[in-house]
Amino acid sequence: MYPKILAAHPLVVELKKDLRLRCEKLKNRGIIPSMCVVLVGDNPASLTYIKNKQKVCEEIGAHFKLVQMPASVKAQDFLNQLHQLNHDHSVHGIIIQLPVTESLKNLNIPNLVTPEKDIDGFNGANTQAIYTGTTNLQLLIPCTPKGIINLLNYYGITLDGKHVVVIGRSLIVGKPLSMLLSNLNATVTLAHSKTKNLKQITQTADVIVSAIGKSEFITPDYLGHSQQILIDVGINNLDGKLTGDVSKEAQEKALAYTPVPGGVGPMTVISLIENLITATENQVKG
Ligand code: NAD
Repeated sequence: MYPKILAAHPLVVELKKDLRLRCEKLKNRGIIPSMCVVLVGDNPASLTYIKNKQKVCEEIGAHFKLVQMPASVKAQDFLNQLHQLNHDHSVHGIIIQLPVTESLKNLNIPNLVTPEKDIDGFNGANTQAIYTGTTNLQLLIPCTPKGIINLLNYYGITLDGKHVVVIGRSLIVGKPLSMLLSNLNATVTLAHSKTKNLKQITQTADVIVSAIGKSEFITPDYLGHSQQILIDVGINNLDGKLTGDVSKEAQEKALAYTPVPGGVGPMTVISLIENLITATENQVKG
């Protein structure tokens, strides 16, 4: 049986140890895994997320670089910067920090990072693996879905034949996660803001994943029985406090849940660093 609180910490400790070793091996060959984050503007939430990435990146011994461009940057200058990073052999992983500013919204952002350096796993060449049925978590696939599956595996929560309701259909969480869950033989319902009778649907789930971004959205009436598992992806600010989408009362009613903070967030960051090390290893393969 798993614990009530599905904390990321014990798994993150294990993964960091493994990643430090892999990083050390590369360094012994004269290769320093190097991540570059491209930030347009100075969105405070983005700067906080970037700091978290930098911290874990440096903890495992990899190199971190931030390229910050003004919100007024011209699309061509942004593209030139990406082109230069895609061709820079000392950079192994590139992230375009989302959201980008309005002036860049028409660009095909997910495909601007070359697939080999796409550690966010957003490039069509990388997402294709998920849509064609992979269950291989070693590939460069989106970090939040990868982190969630890793966490469920760690706690021995099987997905085969389970009904999983994913709420939220974003390109970075809901859509790739629903595909990955389906590849793992779960029966998936992908719900969103236009879904009717959401409570009736979630009440029948074995696992509910909430990726909405609304504090305390999941109240006990979304739960139907006492054996349900709640995966809380939400990151919200409630009166200056970091909260997820799931209320305390719903957590109490569930069989098990991921905490916020300390659940999906750290799993996302560690999955990103894992993608960086994998991308570096792939690029320097003899
Ligand atoms: P998003 O913000 O792009 O979209 C929100 C989704 O929620 C939409 O698909 C929408 O249809 C759905 N939604 C909104 N209101 C709803 C309602 N009333 N009923 C049902 N569905 C509703 O999605 P996102 O980028 O995946 O982000 C969702 C949340 O997850 C945000 O809080 C974000 O900060 C957080 N997030 C956390 C991590 C992490 O590592 N923990 C990673 C990515 C995103």
